Amino acid sequence: MSHLSPAVQSLIQEKGLPDSRRLDTLAWPEVGKAASAPDSVLLLPIGASEQHGPHLAINTDTAIAQSLCDYASSLSGAFVAPAMPYTVSAGHTTKWPGTFSLSHETFIQTMAEWTAWAVSMSWTRVLWVNSHFGNDASLRVALDKARLTHLGQLQIGLVTTFQISEDVWKDFSSDAEDLHANKAETDLMLFLYPDSVDITTIEDDPDRTEGTVFSYPVAQTSLNGLTGSPSQASAEQGRELFLKMASALAAKVETAKTESPPLPPEQWSALPELTS
Ligand SMILES: [Zn+2]
Repeated sequence: MSHLSPAVQSLIQEKGLPDSRRLDTLAWPEVGKAASAPDSVLLLPIGASEQHGPHLAINTDTAIAQSLCDYASSLSGAFVAPAMPYTVSAGHTTKWPGTFSLSHETFIQTMAEWTAWAVSMSWTRVLWVNSHFGNDASLRVALDKARLTHLGQLQIGLVTTFQISEDVWKDFSSDAEDLHANKAETDLMLFLYPDSVDITTIEDDPDRTEGTVFSYPVAQTSLNGLTGSPSQASAEQGRELFLKMASALAAKVETAKTESPPLPPEQWSALPELTS
């Protein structure tokens, strides 16, 4: 019933790991047990539905976040909530078909409502796993609101997949700092979903933002919707990068299973309720 990337499925088999624990394959009694089990961690994959140049599918960011959570789940036992595919992509403009964007305000509100439902089920340890840069500002605002709204009930954090470690960021930004549908994203998709990559249409486009002081939407910086050198990509490099990212995510889950606020409850539990 689960629809894992074929590459993730074979990694799991090859290494003899337990299945990924996707909530969308469970009925409510199991979801209830999962939420209230001690040390249970819930991952929410957050992607985008947006143009990714002429050669990558519009679900690229969602597919990457989902696959990382699926594999990290097998490695660590974390649960994976149904992915968030509609997010903030307005910076891509309407120039290229395939981009569907929420406003920042709608997305922040969506995250607040999603979190309230998670808390209502008794999830107490949640990590948002985001693979799309355009979501970053809204997610930071949403995170600040969520940690105050559910103070004492929920520990919540944000993981940015392409910056999960210095090493990973080095790989991602090797061909472009203002990257999009670049070498690293194409590496990952060639590994995860090779059938979805149209290598006949790959055309590099350079990062034109080096040394600029203003901020520009993609229509002002890229000719074909991408930024970077996807022509240098390969499935082997994708496999290596994917394993590095997934094991860094699994390590965060291990910490998240037992981490407590640095100061004990008597220092903060009597604060008046804040709804930001
Ligand atoms: Zn992307």
